[in-house]
Amino acid sequence: MFTCDNKRMEDKITTFAKFGDAGHGGITRYSLSPEAHQARDYFVKRMEAIGATIECDDMANMYATIPGSEPGLKRIVMASHADSVKNGGNYDGILGVIAGMEVLETVVAENIPHRHPLTAMIWTNEEGSLYPPAMMSSGVVCYDYLPADISKKFKKENMLASVSVLDKTTTFGDALNASPFKGEEKNRLSKDKYEAMFELHIEQGPILEDAGNEIGVVTCVLGMFNYRIRFYGQSDHAGTTPMHKRQDALFAAAQALCYLHEEIDKLGRPELVYTTGEIVCHPNVHTVIPDMIDFSIDVRHEDPELRAKVLEIVKSLEQKEWARCKCEVELAWQRDTVYFDKELVGYVKESADELGTKNQLINSGAGHDAQFASYMMPTTMIFVPSKDGHSHCEPEFTTVEECTKGASVLLNAVLKTDKK
Ligand SMILES: [Zn+2]
Repeated sequence: MFTCDNKRMEDKITTFAKFGDAGHGGITRYSLSPEAHQARDYFVKRMEAIGATIECDDMANMYATIPGSEPGLKRIVMASHADSVKNGGNYDGILGVIAGMEVLETVVAENIPHRHPLTAMIWTNEEGSLYPPAMMSSGVVCYDYLPADISKKFKKENMLASVSVLDKTTTFGDALNASPFKGEEKNRLSKDKYEAMFELHIEQGPILEDAGNEIGVVTCVLGMFNYRIRFYGQSDHAGTTPMHKRQDALFAAAQALCYLHEEIDKLGRPELVYTTGEIVCHPNVHTVIPDMIDFSIDVRHEDPELRAKVLEIVKSLEQKEWARCKCEVELAWQRDTVYFDKELVGYVKESADELGTKNQLINSGAGHDAQFASYMMPTTMIFVPSKDGHSHCEPEFTTVEECTKGASVLLNAVLKTDKK
């Protein structure tokens, strides 16, 4: 068993935290911003220091590779993202990059024999915070392997045209053209050149911490569906229309939302998660009774049968009248549960056990680049705990020791893959 180094991990964690430091414990580091370029420069500096070769592809994804002992073998890649959300933390994404770097640094420092070339990788624009959508570059690179209803959202020309949410005059394509890290399409992650992909990530939830575990052996990314639920009423004057004559679409939606929670909770499955996070109100004027409400419902669970039961409840809304308003339910999008490669999951589990970590099987409720990569090649993920389950915010925290344990599990799982 090989182990990674706490001191070296801490050094990288604290250094990357400077690039985009928002001044109160977290970072804002949009993809391809000056701060993101500083982080990439540091990645290059450290990786060149151990003799790695740096390559960039046409989406500015970056690859640092050290050779293996057997020529002709494909690379094993450890990848995550270096961008953050606005006022995000110091761990989401970047920890997976740091862990990949740490594995290469450990292999070189300790002269650990390995047959395959090993690559640490940065995915561009995973968060999609400045240029939507999220998981943009893995969507483009894995395009030919994704299910059709997912891939159609990641056409490269549409991604290049994605407009900055802060400045309507610039696009992702402009930022890419201005980036010194834009490279060639031939350097992309591909099935021909790469054997397997690992992504270490913070859990972004409280499950590991609550269970007192240090490592999550990730088995899948949860299947989900996203529906739009609409209510149609009648707009009238807020001061002159008696309550009993109203067709208030917002009141109807509020009742229906409470009904949804009651009925879904009756299924008695605490691991099922569902969210209404978006609402559109028309005309959205304080003196006018709303005539249209449109809200989202996002439902996630591994089991398709359970998701189907929830969907029945959602669809049943159409059969009733809500506060004298009509209801319509429409699918926005859905995806099946994405299972990670069984062999790689096994290597992660064995490594976590052999290193004596407290670990458990876990699934991912959030989307990650690894989920798209898994359509292309054997892929899996490793989770480390998130303090109080926080992520996408400044209090996001994982101890250096937990980060290093995660990197050690990654190292040993990669070495097991290398021996195969
Ligand atoms: Zn992330």
